[in-house]
Amino acid sequence: MSVNDIPLSLNAEQLISQIPGVVFQFFRHHNGHMSIPFMEGAGVTSAPIDRDQLAEDANTALEQLTGADYPKLMSAIERSAQGMLPLATRFRLAPPGHKAKWIGVSATPEPMPNGVRWHGIMMDISDQVSEEQRLRKLCDTDPLTSLPNRRKLMVQLTHLASLSSRHGTPLSIMMLDIDHFKHINDRWGHLQGDDVLKRLATLAQSLLRSEDMIARLGGEEFMALLPLTPVKQCHQLADRLRHQIAEHDFGIGVGKVTLSIGVAEYRCGEPIASLIERADQALYSAKDVGRDCVCLLS
Ligand code: GH3
Ligand code: MG
Ligand code: MG
Repeated sequence: MSVNDIPLSLNAEQLISQIPGVVFQFFRHHNGHMSIPFMEGAGVTSAPIDRDQLAEDANTALEQLTGADYPKLMSAIERSAQGMLPLATRFRLAPPGHKAKWIGVSATPEPMPNGVRWHGIMMDISDQVSEEQRLRKLCDTDPLTSLPNRRKLMVQLTHLASLSSRHGTPLSIMMLDIDHFKHINDRWGHLQGDDVLKRLATLAQSLLRSEDMIARLGGEEFMALLPLTPVKQCHQLADRLRHQIAEHDFGIGVGKVTLSIGVAEYRCGEPIASLIERADQALYSAKDVGRDCVCLLS
């Protein structure tokens, strides 16, 4: 049988009932009341839908939105209504007793005498969202140590510096560099060197608080961000960390792996580059005065 022989027997209604998602109309009255007068399609979750109820009042469906997604959807609807702009957003829907799903919605508004009516589609985009999350994690993670990478660290540092400027709270950073790492590679081999980097990352992370971040900048260089921490406290913590690393056996004997650390505190409103520069200079000083130590430039 050729393609042309297949009977085109589906009418629009039958076709819509089979699409993997829903086609809908959403109405918001000027008084704020919301309803879904039309919804057809194979659905976005396996939970049963009471269409008659939704045609009266959309709240039973909207109550299933999780966390911050409800206000996010409401402000997207508001923006769309205000500017008569297409509505395009996503939210998590968690019907009782069913797995939460990510739903993508796309709809066009139409002004009505008593409110705004949208015509649109909704699809289950859970697989797409988890793929995006996997790729984002990949972009932000150092593959050897699984620590955040430089990119992720810079985003977090920018965020913390702006909080620190706004609230006048302290923020300190540590720049860490393994001493004579080239010797370790030369003496024990590159694979053993990799193992030292991995173990050091795990150990350093376990010594920091959960709100701190330690990232691998590249090679044998790391940076730690310590929000709400004055530099004196950061210095003490850096010294404790340095001590623990020097006492630890990374599989090549105690005392074979040491760290030089430069510390610096953020000055309200300064560019991030100058904070990093100060920590870098402090690290150079630590190397200069003999390594396996912590330095702070005054
Ligand atoms: P210093 O005390 O002055 O920091 O000396 P160093 O030997 O640690 O510094 P240098 O910059 O001379 O050498 C860094 C070494 O780190 C050289 C490079 O081969 C090694 N390295 C960089 N990335 C990796 C990695 O992913 N794995 C391993 N095993 N070694 C790495
Ligand atoms: Mg080094
Ligand atoms: Mg280095």
